[in-house]
This record gives sequence, structure tokens and C-alpha cells, in this order.
Amino acid sequence: MDDIVGIDLGTTNSLIGVMDSGFPILIADSEGHRLMPSVVYFPKEAEPVVGRPAERMRAVAPEQTVYSVKRLMGYRPGESEKNDFSYPVKHTGGRTVLEVNGRTLRPEEVSALILRKLRANAAAALGREVDRAVITVPAYFNDLQRQATKQAGELAGLTVERIINEPTAAALAYGLDRLSDKSKIAVYDFGGGTFDISILELHNGVFRVLATNGNTRLGGDDIDRELVRLLKDRLTGRYPELRADLEDVVFTARLRQIAHDAKLRLSEEMAVQIEIPFVSKAQSFSYLLSRQELEAVARPIVRRTRAHCLRSLDDAKLDAHQLDEVILAGGVTRMPVVRQFVAELFQRLPNIGQNPDEAVAVGATIQAGMLSGQVQNVVLLDVTPLSLGIETFGGLMNVIIPRNSTIPCKAGEMFTNAVANQRSMQIKVLQGERELAKDNWQLGSFEIEFDPAPKGTARVGVQFEIDANGILHVLARDTKSGRQKEVDLSSAVDVSDEAVEKMIAESLDQAFADMAERVWTETVLKSNELLPAVRSALMLVGHQLTAEERDRIAGLVREVESALTTHHVHRLKAANEALDKGTQHLATLLIDRAMAEAAKRKR
Ligand code: ADP
Ligand code: MG
Repeated sequence: MDDIVGIDLGTTNSLIGVMDSGFPILIADSEGHRLMPSVVYFPKEAEPVVGRPAERMRAVAPEQTVYSVKRLMGYRPGESEKNDFSYPVKHTGGRTVLEVNGRTLRPEEVSALILRKLRANAAAALGREVDRAVITVPAYFNDLQRQATKQAGELAGLTVERIINEPTAAALAYGLDRLSDKSKIAVYDFGGGTFDISILELHNGVFRVLATNGNTRLGGDDIDRELVRLLKDRLTGRYPELRADLEDVVFTARLRQIAHDAKLRLSEEMAVQIEIPFVSKAQSFSYLLSRQELEAVARPIVRRTRAHCLRSLDDAKLDAHQLDEVILAGGVTRMPVVRQFVAELFQRLPNIGQNPDEAVAVGATIQAGMLSGQVQNVVLLDVTPLSLGIETFGGLMNVIIPRNSTIPCKAGEMFTNAVANQRSMQIKVLQGERELAKDNWQLGSFEIEFDPAPKGTARVGVQFEIDANGILHVLARDTKSGRQKEVDLSSAVDVSDEAVEKMIAESLDQAFADMAERVWTETVLKSNELLPAVRSALMLVGHQLTAEERDRIAGLVREVESALTTHHVHRLKAANEALDKGTQHLATLLIDRAMAEAAKRKR
């Protein structure tokens, strides 16, 4: 049988599963553990050690033990200057490498070692090789990071059949296909290094992603770090002379281990006794850490998930009470303070029917089962990450498909010519959230020709369609001649999540500036309409005005012309209005003339 395995390649822990007689089964290692720490220890002259034994080396040999390598996958130099790893990480020539015990390694290579170990565990348990896999990534992973993950799989000898988002996998694991029709589900996934929130809708056995949001640098590691800081404070409080010694790398790693173990126990107990036998040669340290103290340091970190949750609800156009289910994933959601926070935020008790740290792997396995044909009747749909539109008069963005629309989708709009006798129109296809075309990304551009027509009378329909594969088809048709042109743009939906985040953040930052720019552009367009109209009216009927009236209008025209050079929107608006008002007599003369001519023609 041709198995496909499901893999949760986590920042902290990784798991592997396979479908067995229609059920997703997670595979345990020879010691019976399903959760494998994503840690690799590199001894000086022996083969790398992966998983639980490597985790134990973190405190002993922090500089030779690589953890949280997922944070470095597809790392872009300059993304974050902060380097808080206990092993040497170098960013050279646009690449990230780890230098451990004389070895130079790319993050993908370390991830490949983790995947190879999982694969070996699976082969040992199944009694046959596995070489096809589904691997999960956080929803906010960008293209580079997804690619790096795929590469890691290939380096481990796996064909990566699909990369799927972790929250989507978690939803599958909770068996949400059993819910009643039209259910809405929030997936709150808080792991060691990443936070993800997704809003899904289930309808007639079909999952639809309504919105996703998250942060790739927020997780239980942050809680550990804060707890280490707290313990160091308590230590220096008692032994001020040890302040410098506490910054020692080995000691910090040891303290982190102690803090971490205490944190896990405090999910069950109200207080734990912390013992550090030899802080220095002479002293030992013992301290009763309460759940309350842990929660005080954890709460601000947990609260940082709030904004992401609210934003995703907003994107999905839902209120918390409209959700039918909130599910938990990631080990951090075992903490009572997290469950309480989620319950308050979403105004309901979260579903805890799954082991939160196994949910993603179970879902990946179900997805693998779908690909190999062992699971049917579930389809996953996606949403457009950014708005799609075309550039219109004055360089403005005209949105045709708004962001977060469900794929597949189709939408269209009618456009006209800005200039009389124009023979063609340039269709510039744009993606982004900014008001001005130039601030968005241009995906492509083409020209549609049409029959010459007076200004504003041509009718060009533009239709955008995104198919199930995420490919954008743009169709433009001149409705008079029936002439049409079609262009396919495949890159449309496939932009990196990081770029999307940046675009959205910028559009929020720039909202006021953009609006001002849009108002200015529209005011300029108004002037550009008024000025030629006034000039041609003056030519036709100007002689019927008094010299005084003509001077006054000339003055108003000059004011519009000079306001145009200032970028001063209020001044231009006022000048437009004054010119509009001040030429009312001129306009009636023009109408009288037109009527007289019409009457003449009739006679
Ligand atoms: P990842 O997806 O990043 O690999 P996991 O879902 O395995 O992470 O979650 C790991 C995180 O969950 C770690 O920060 C770990 O300390 C934390 N965690 C695991 N179990 C518990 C628990 N019982 N109480 C509190 N935190 C826990
Ligand atoms: Mg995870």
C-alpha cells in the first residue's frame, strides 16, 4: 500500500501519523512517545542526535544543541536582528547558517534531520518505508518559509505532497465535519513559537477558511523566557553577588529547563517547589513558585493574541457569539489561564476534545488520507489574501474582488472612456489594499480596443474570476463590438503571507494619507473637467458676457490653475466651487444657444 504520512513539523515538538483502517494514528517512537522534541544535538565526532535525548543535552551543551530551528526556516536577513539562540547563528550573503561543532548547516538541513528521524520511527513502527508526506506550517508562513519546509522534506527523502496550514489541520482533527451544517469555528493554536487564529465555516461537509491571522514570533517560549527572568530576579534578590554568574549560557539553559518543567506542572498544580542545588559552589536555591506568579508573567503574553483574534473575527465579519465552536491547539492551551482567556474572549467554553498538542498532526494525517483516497467528502477552500482590482482614472485603485473573498469567485464591473474618441483602454491588474494604484502591486496589464466614442459612452466590462486552483482570469469586453481579451495570472493568490501582512499594516498606517491622496486626485479630476468646459463655453458664448464678467471668470480660472500646482486640497476644492458657481450665467447662455440651434435645425 502506498502510504502518505502526516507530519506536524513544530517549532518545539514534531509528530508523525498515518491512516490505519480509516483512522488517523500517531506513531510513537521505540520508547512510546508520540511527541518528539524538535531538537538536534551535534556531538563533536559522532552522528547528530535527534529528539528526546537531544532535548536533554540542551542544558548540558547549549551551544551544540539546535532547537526552535523552525524560527530560522526561510529566515530573511534583517527580519529581526535579535538573536536569542544559545547556538551560533550567522547571516551571511543573504543566507542563514548555523555553525555547530565545526559543522555549517542550513536550517532546512536541521529540519531534514528531524523529519528523517520521524520517518525512521514510522518505518520501524509500520515495518515498511514511507516516502510521501503532508507537512503542516503556520498560516502566516510566507512563501520562502513554505519552500524551505518543502526542501527539508525532500532532503529527508520525502516527496512533499502538500503543505497545509496548521489551524486547518487542527479543525480536521476535531472532526468538525460531524457538526451540523453551516457551523462556524475558531481555531486558537498557541504553540511553542507561533500563534495562529483561524475562522472556518463548515457547510454541507465543505470547510471554508473565512479568515486567518497570527504571529510567527509568539509562543510558549516567550512564557519560558519571562519565567527565567522572574527566577533570576528572585535569585539576585537573595544572592546579589551572583548577578554576573547568572548570565552564563549554561546556567541560563539549565534555568530554562527548570522554569519549563515548573510551567508544565503549574497547569495541574497550584504551586511547585523549585530547587537549584548548586547555584554557586556554596549556595543552593529553593523557591515555592505559585501558579499566580506564573500567570502574572504569562498573562501579558497571552493577551497579545487578543488583537489577532479580533482582527480575524472582523475579517470574517462575525461577532464572537456567532461562532458555534472554539477549538484549542498547541501545548500552551493546556494552561488554565489560556483557557480562561479564550473563554472570555469568545464568550464560550472552548472544545477540548483533542489533545491540543496532537491535533495538528492528526489533521495532517487525515489530509494525507484524503490525498491517498482513504478519506473522502471533505474539501478545503481558501480565501484571497489581498484585494484585486484595476487602475482607474487618476491612478486610483478600483477594487473588484475584495480581500478575504472565498475562492472560487467571480466579480465584474463596467468602465467607460475618460477621453472622447479614445480607441483603447489599458487594463492594469492590481493587488493590494492601498487607495493609489502605484502603492499596490501590478500583476499584469493588457490593452482592450474599442470603437471610438464620445467621452463617457464606451462600455467596457471587466470581469475577474479566481478558480479553485487560485488562478486569476481577467476578461475585458467592449460591449458594443463584442471584442474581448482574456488573460490568466497565476501569481495572484500566491503571494507570501508576510507580504500580505505588510501590505495590510501599511494600508492601515497610510489610511489617512491615502484618503487625502484620493480626495486630492478626485478634486484634480474635477478641475480637469471644469477648465476645458469653461474655456470652450467662453469661446462659444463669451462675447455675450460683460467685460467685467469675463475678467471675473478669468480670475476664477487662474485661481484653479494655480491651486492645481499647490497640492492644497481645500484651496483647490474652493477654487473649483467658485468657478462652478461663477460660471452659472455662462452655462445658461450655453444652454440657450444649444436650444436655439436645435430649434433652428428643426425649422
Ligand atoms: P509547537 O507547535 O510550537 O511545536 P506545541 O504545540 O508542541 O508547540 O506546544 C509547545 C509549547 O506548549 C511549549 O511552549 C510548551 O512549554 C507548552 N506546553 C506543553 N504542555 C504544556 C502544559 N501542560 N502546560 C503549559 N504549557 C505547555
Ligand atoms: Mg504546533
